[in-house]
Amino acid sequence: MSADPHCIFCKIVAGQIPSKKVYEDDELLAFHDINPWAPVHILIIPKQHIVSMADVNEAHAGMLGRMMALSPRLMLDLGVTGGFRHVINTGRDGMQEVMHLHLHVMGGPRPWLKG
Ligand code: AMP
Ligand code: ZN
Repeated sequence: MSADPHCIFCKIVAGQIPSKKVYEDDELLAFHDINPWAPVHILIIPKQHIVSMADVNEAHAGMLGRMMALSPRLMLDLGVTGGFRHVINTGRDGMQEVMHLHLHVMGGPRPWLKG
């Protein structure tokens, strides 16, 4: 599986940087965002190093579908019952800060810090 030795999320996948994991399988990892905007804010990432949605093609459809399909279960497990929000930032103009594809999933009672 491809990894970038300088990528912070690849280091989380490899266990070189700690994270508060909420889910893991062969293909995906989910963990709490270190700087949450909402009472519950997790990131779902592919374990494989894919930089952003700009690098995705039809071959990734199954993996992307799994990222989306996993999110309701994880939100429920984390006690989110009032709805949640998905965000994916892509590239410079998309305000992406970490260059490893990630799906933000945010929920919990408002007000939230952002969004
Ligand atoms: P984005 O702007 O979409 O690239 O978002 C990157 C997100 O990664 C931000 O919400 C950060 O708070 C989060 N983040 C950065 N480093 C870590 C880390 N070590 N563990 C958990 N979340 C992180
Ligand atoms: Zn990476």
